[in-house]
Amino acid sequence: MTKPILLSTPHMGDREQAFVKEAFDTNWIAPVGPHVDAFEREFCKVVGAGHAAAVSSGTAALHLALRLIGVETGDEVFCSTLTFIATASPITYLGGKPVFVDSDRTTWNINPNLLREALDNRAKLGKLPKAVVIVHLYGQSADIDPILAACNAYEITLIEDAAESLGATYKNRSPGTFGKIGIYSFNGNKIITTSGGGMLVSEEESLIQKARFLATQARDRAPHYQHSEIGYNYRLSNILAGIGRGQLQVLEERVQARRRNFEVYQQALGNLPGIEFMPEAAYGRATRWLTCLTIDPDAFGADREQIRLALSEQQIEARPVWKPLHLQPVFAECDRVGGAIAEDLFKYGLCLPSGSNLTMEDLDRVIAAIMAIHRKK
Ligand SMILES: *Cc1c(COP(=O)(O)O)cnc(C)c1O
Repeated sequence: MTKPILLSTPHMGDREQAFVKEAFDTNWIAPVGPHVDAFEREFCKVVGAGHAAAVSSGTAALHLALRLIGVETGDEVFCSTLTFIATASPITYLGGKPVFVDSDRTTWNINPNLLREALDNRAKLGKLPKAVVIVHLYGQSADIDPILAACNAYEITLIEDAAESLGATYKNRSPGTFGKIGIYSFNGNKIITTSGGGMLVSEEESLIQKARFLATQARDRAPHYQHSEIGYNYRLSNILAGIGRGQLQVLEERVQARRRNFEVYQQALGNLPGIEFMPEAAYGRATRWLTCLTIDPDAFGADREQIRLALSEQQIEARPVWKPLHLQPVFAECDRVGGAIAEDLFKYGLCLPSGSNLTMEDLDRVIAAIMAIHRKK
């Protein structure tokens, strides 16, 4: 039987079980505890953030972030269109309305010039959005400086969804630490995982304290249970934080392994007609969380779907690039700014198996399968 090669699977290090055992031995089996505190501290060191709150998912972190900056019913929030739905769904949890902004062709991330233009136009109409949420896609930071400048020009809050880009850099700093709030994810498919989990970071300690308060049902200071506002049950468990502490220790190794995957793929496939790999922007280091490429069907002789299905027949999981959010049925009513670039990247883009635990044999199998499709044409 052929071993399946999956897109991105969990990859544990040596220390996770010891941290989890410690949680069991001390009976800290709760959404509070020493691992949670330590994970937050250690995470701050790794990304260079002032303060952090560990929560149950990246989506929960984004929900809290938007709530903390006061997004309410009817508020518009500008949002990258080429991303996973979780970048935008928390906007709607609060009754906000996402407005989707197109990508830049070379970075695949939000186009800063388009964002600036859109904000200029909205300013003239007196209809500025409440916030801007940007994603750092597939392990590559967006071009943060011009994005921040555009936001700052109109005093609009920037929130960074760095769920896919822990370990990346932008001008030697971590994406996620530039806006008012940044979020990360430790879902099973991310570069490091706690099986499920997320982190919220900010330079403002009061924001992070408020996040912890909201994440634990918004309990007022009182011996009895008293609540003056509605909160959530979003804290990370001490057991999962233990896994996270172990994973943080191997983050750099995981980045190196994923970058190696990319290089092996690019060496082998980069010269095939019609194949183009996602470029790495000059301003930083991409983690290559997923190796992504586009396929021009005329030049290559097969299109994205034909390749994906041929790989699937050989037990190799590849996925189309994210379907832009402005094309999602659930967001059919939402406004958008451009969208053609993201649509192209979706139409032609494919993500190859990219886990840090892939072997050379695995990569060779993926490469051979793609070469075979090319030769048949
Ligand atoms: C994974 C992901 C999220 C959500 O994180 P979860 O921890 O799965 O809730 C948000 N945004 C992006 C871009 C993601 O890839």
